[in-house]
Amino acid sequence: VDEVVLAAMNAVPRHIFVEEALASRAYDDVSLPINFGQTISNPQMVARMSELLRAGSDLGKVLEIGTGCGYQAAVLAQLAREVYSIERIGPLLTRTRTRLRELRLSNVRLKHADGLLGLPEAAPFDAIIMTAAATHVPPSLLEQLAVGGRMIFPKGSQEQHLCVIERNAQGYVETILDEVKFVPILSGIAKA
Ligand code: SAH
Repeated sequence: VDEVVLAAMNAVPRHIFVEEALASRAYDDVSLPINFGQTISNPQMVARMSELLRAGSDLGKVLEIGTGCGYQAAVLAQLAREVYSIERIGPLLTRTRTRLRELRLSNVRLKHADGLLGLPEAAPFDAIIMTAAATHVPPSLLEQLAVGGRMIFPKGSQEQHLCVIERNAQGYVETILDEVKFVPILSGIAKA
């Protein structure tokens, strides 16, 4: 329902992010395979997570864990001043880099690393989004969240729910929302 998110999604051509054979399905509300056993979330989910992250205000510095094909990062680039996105699968990231360069998204920085460690050199972040599921929040990500910041991720393993964590001066507040289904977060960089 957030008009700013809808405009951002309108500005990003989704068919560029999937294999050519699947391009005709790129605008259906479905998740699609993006190679290396990973998936691009359905548009409704990208919108929902973007809306929860934004919570009605423009975003400053955002960290995404799980770049994948880069679609969520490209949507975030419309909503935030700066986007950092980390992916553990090298060849997947190489393809995504080319794609985002073609779209001339100059405020997105990609990094091949283990996202569970966050990105201390660019912290603190006003918002953190993890697009793979975890049973609990990685402690380094909690530390790298700015006071007043918000993090969203799919919490759980077999059964998962969207989890929003807000950091205030006193500590962290967790809210559990919709049931979801994401691939699991894995530790370490993928072997070539
Ligand atoms: N946001 C993506 C969705 C990608 S699916 C998009 O719009 O396409 C989740 C991604 O998280 C996968 O590409 C997977 O390789 C990545 N991932 C899983 N564990 C990770 C980790 N520890 N660090 C970085 N990326 C990770």
